[in-house]
Amino acid sequence: MNERLAPTMSKTSRLDFPWKTPPAKGTVTEVAPGLLWARLPLPFRLNHVNVWLMEDDDGWTVIDTGCATPELFSVWETLLAGPMAGGAVRRVIATHGHVDHIGLSGWMVDRFGAEYVGTFGEWMWSRLSHLHGVPGSSAAYHSYLKRNGFEEAVTGAMATSRNRFMDLSSPVPGCITEIRDGGTIRFGRRDWSIIVTRGHTFEHASFYDEASGILIAGDHLLPKISPVIAVYEMTPKGDPLADYLASFQQFAHIPADILVLPSHGMPYRGIHERIEELRTHHRLRLDETAEFLREPKTALELSHAMFPHIEGPDNIGFALGETLAHINWLLNQGIVREDIDPSGRAIFTTRA
Ligand SMILES: [Zn+2]
Repeated sequence: MNERLAPTMSKTSRLDFPWKTPPAKGTVTEVAPGLLWARLPLPFRLNHVNVWLMEDDDGWTVIDTGCATPELFSVWETLLAGPMAGGAVRRVIATHGHVDHIGLSGWMVDRFGAEYVGTFGEWMWSRLSHLHGVPGSSAAYHSYLKRNGFEEAVTGAMATSRNRFMDLSSPVPGCITEIRDGGTIRFGRRDWSIIVTRGHTFEHASFYDEASGILIAGDHLLPKISPVIAVYEMTPKGDPLADYLASFQQFAHIPADILVLPSHGMPYRGIHERIEELRTHHRLRLDETAEFLREPKTALELSHAMFPHIEGPDNIGFALGETLAHINWLLNQGIVREDIDPSGRAIFTTRA
């Protein structure tokens, strides 16, 4: 979910895409020995998520599950009866806690008695986010929206629409096998190094197998769009863009020709070119943000300037979060100033 709506790849991109078409619904493509790629449909503008299936002696490991829609249950039944026939799912691994990745984890873990594996932060975040009525959370959301320029009348609709989105999940499993940055985990007959990054989420996990030259990258390094880098009400002063830009260093040691398996889009080679494109994209967006803020604006006004075609509460919510990520980076660098107007709204202005 939450992927930026504009492409971030220049026409001169030097990425190499070994496959020209994704696997059809309910089928798999073997991208490396024993490593199967399935593509699941999503009911969003970003209309699919890639998942990775690997068999070990004790059963299958599934990386990410898609979200809970009737169509997706039936696609999983097709996969379980087809390419995965006869085997049980032993392990469900979450790259991160967004609903398009973990939405069916609880269902799958329950059905097979599987182990649920992921970072503590993502598990905790997804447990909290998928519960309605956590004390204090709706107050935090309303004050975040009001402070950023939303009228009182629309904050209720924003909250309802977001809850609908989060409801596309079976209950998140109640316990987890925790993985951490720098650790290793064995699945699919390979030993994977765990790379935990901040930026798109708090503790996003990627998995790198040096021996076969494969990185399962989740949403962190997508081929054509930037993952959403956004500020949300839980951490309104956060600087996820600084975290994201800093995270690129964690991939610096990885050889240039490895195969990157992203959660959205096509597998590719050219990790370092892609990191450079993403870095450039965000630098340009920062320049644009500073330019727009020569005239003082609320974050909502700036969101409309930065995303002129955006409509609907979900998309405005995402645009606001992304806009704030760029604002907070500029605030921390002293390039932008924040003032509070008499109605309590934050007004941002680029310093002269
Ligand atoms: Zn995501």
